[in-house]
Amino acid sequence: MLETPSQSLTSFGGEFRAPEREAAFQAERLPETLRHLRLLLLLSAILNTLFFISDWRFYGTPHFYIAIAARMIVVLIALLCLWTISRATGFCQAQKSMVTWEWINGAAVALLVSSHSDLALFIVLLLPSIYYLAVPTEFRWSMISGAACSVMMLAGYMYPEILGSTTIGLVLAVVTLNFALLLVVARSNRLQRTEWASTQAERRAKEELVESRAMFETMFKTVPIPLVVVRMDGAIVDTNDAATRYFGASWETLGIQSINEIYVTPTDREAFLAALRKDGHADDFETIVRLADGSVRTVLLAGTTLEIGGIPHIMSAVVDITERKAAEERSWRAASHDTLTDLPNRALFQSRLEQALVQAERNGTSISLILIDLDNFKSVNDTLGHDAGDALLRKAAERLRAIVRDCDTVARLGGDEFVLIVGEPLLLDDAEALAERILASLKQPISYKDDILSAQASIGIASYPDHDSRPAELMKDADLALYAAKAQGRNRAVVYSPDMRLHIEHKASVARSINEALRRGQIVPFYQPKIDLATERVIGFEALARWHHPEQGLLTPAAFASAFEDPELSIAIGGSMIRQVAADVRSWLDQGIDCGRIAVNLSTAQFNWIGLAKRFLDVLHAAGVPNERLEVEITETVFLGRSASHVAAALKQFHDSGIRIALDDFGTGYASLIHLKQFPVDDIKIDRSFVKDLETDPDNAAIVLAVIELGMSLGMDVIAEGVETAEQVRFLRAKGCNQVQGNFYAIPMAACDVPQFLSQKTA
Ligand code: C2E
Ligand code: CA
Ligand code: CA
Repeated sequence: MLETPSQSLTSFGGEFRAPEREAAFQAERLPETLRHLRLLLLLSAILNTLFFISDWRFYGTPHFYIAIAARMIVVLIALLCLWTISRATGFCQAQKSMVTWEWINGAAVALLVSSHSDLALFIVLLLPSIYYLAVPTEFRWSMISGAACSVMMLAGYMYPEILGSTTIGLVLAVVTLNFALLLVVARSNRLQRTEWASTQAERRAKEELVESRAMFETMFKTVPIPLVVVRMDGAIVDTNDAATRYFGASWETLGIQSINEIYVTPTDREAFLAALRKDGHADDFETIVRLADGSVRTVLLAGTTLEIGGIPHIMSAVVDITERKAAEERSWRAASHDTLTDLPNRALFQSRLEQALVQAERNGTSISLILIDLDNFKSVNDTLGHDAGDALLRKAAERLRAIVRDCDTVARLGGDEFVLIVGEPLLLDDAEALAERILASLKQPISYKDDILSAQASIGIASYPDHDSRPAELMKDADLALYAAKAQGRNRAVVYSPDMRLHIEHKASVARSINEALRRGQIVPFYQPKIDLATERVIGFEALARWHHPEQGLLTPAAFASAFEDPELSIAIGGSMIRQVAADVRSWLDQGIDCGRIAVNLSTAQFNWIGLAKRFLDVLHAAGVPNERLEVEITETVFLGRSASHVAAALKQFHDSGIRIALDDFGTGYASLIHLKQFPVDDIKIDRSFVKDLETDPDNAAIVLAVIELGMSLGMDVIAEGVETAEQVRFLRAKGCNQVQGNFYAIPMAACDVPQFLSQKTA
């Protein structure tokens, strides 16, 4: 609790209780006190010198000599003390001189008043009053010296007749005088000190104000954050050094009067003011400002309103976040864009698609999704290396970007898959036309080092609201359309149609499960023996694919026939089959088992595999299986497909390397007999549908006979498939058929059963 001025004073003397405070009070008044004392002592010396004249009236009486001597003492002590006072540097020193003066002066004047004159009586009362009122000593010294002076005066005046008739009256008068004077001194002390204390407090408050103002000013100027003080109308009042440094020049040099000029978007200032008016302060207000050199920076403003001289002002701090924003932008780009092509990635595509659909729904407009898959990307990667692949992807991205408008999205979903989101005014028909333009554009040759690359693509198109409204479903539609485009022979665009879904979904699910089965090694070759009719010996086996399905047990190809017609799956199954067959043959040979020649089936789709024959030969070579151990079975349809030229080259390669070629299912296809001459076919397999009712159906018998004769005349071996009965065997042998294959001899068996089967046959 703060002490009031009167509480800090002694209750009787009216002086400060705290000695240091009292000392400070006296010290501050010291020059004044000394001047006052010098005047007092000088007056005493002068007046008492003049009193010599008055003392002359005692001339001739014994008191005359006492008076002259006492008067001299009074004058001398006044002069002496005047001298010591003029040398005094502190209140205590001055007080010592004064008390000394009071006592010696009092003693001398006591001698003087022994004259008992009327004047003497006046002095008896006057001198203590002077001590109390005119001599500035501490209260206790005022009291002691005043009282001592009074005693000395009374004694001097009344001597020798101490107990006279007036003694009591006189003493009481002097005592009364002393008390009255003490009260006056105490009151004066009190008044002086309270006044001093309050001026002191006022001065300190003023000093503090000045100090805090100076501190604020220093802080404002030196704080390293740019600060700007403006009036409500934008007039700039003050800025700190950091602001000058930040903006690159002071407002004066720039000649700017209003803060409005630094806002790049002038309406931002209005918004900032609105925020300030609402809450009295605004934090993290983001805007863009211009600097002296013309550069543009993103900043956060924090502002508060304050009153200066009764006028509302705004003080704003400026924090530059340009770099932070750029870093945020960079990390956003890294997370949302593909590094190779700088196109939006799958994540960003998905959010854009969601947005686009929401907007289309709201505006009642349509959007199309165009899904693009490069057809030949894998082979570019495989044959020319990843750099070439990357160059192709970059070029494709560039071309896609060039074809669409800025408002559309082109994204890379990964690998060689791109997607476009195109909005109004593009309708579904336009989307098809756009897809055609994309195909044409991608087909343009790209020169990469010494090679010329070109990208063919398959495109699937789906659109909102024609097909679906949910992002995932629409994407699936486009995916199915893309799948259809691939199935229809690639290098084309297909628009999704709802009936596509079921069929393709089934195929897609087969594809997924086949891939999975291949990964898990569930698809394996089973072997069915081929028998030489002349010797009844096993001359080889046909490898037939079987799927060890985890739930459905052992499945024959009928359950996954579509897989053989799918370009990618048939290649995958074919690759797996030839590797397993080669391994099985190798293992039999190692065991000294002669398994004869093993035939593997090749579907038309498998001929899309670039370098098919070379790959097969490589597999045999790697497994250490002689080429003569292999035969390939093809159907007539391979000659009819678009890849007939590949087929010719591949068959020649097989044939030249010692691999036999059998024409499977003969008689069911549409092959012309010309093919038999054109292609290096070694064997003909009569389709089992003709063998089936051989004994009873004369047509079948006639066909079988014709085929056997054809084979014989062309110098080819003829194999009858699907032989189930001894009758059939007899017929075939009689007609000159070389070989047979069928359940009559053995149903297809697992590789591990082959050795035992062979040993039984030869036994
Ligand atoms: P395919 O090449 O005509 O194979 C002969 C088919 O006749 C086999 O059917 C075989 O099990 C069956 N078969 C053999 N003897 C008899 C018999 O006495 N009676 C009856 N009713 N059937 C008999 P599978 O194994 O179901 O194969 C069907 C077709 O799947 C094959 O016909 C072939 O075109 C294809 N295929 C099988 N494995 C592969 C393969 O690895 N690659 C390719 N591309 N196609 C394969
Ligand atoms: Ca076959
Ligand atoms: Ca067949």
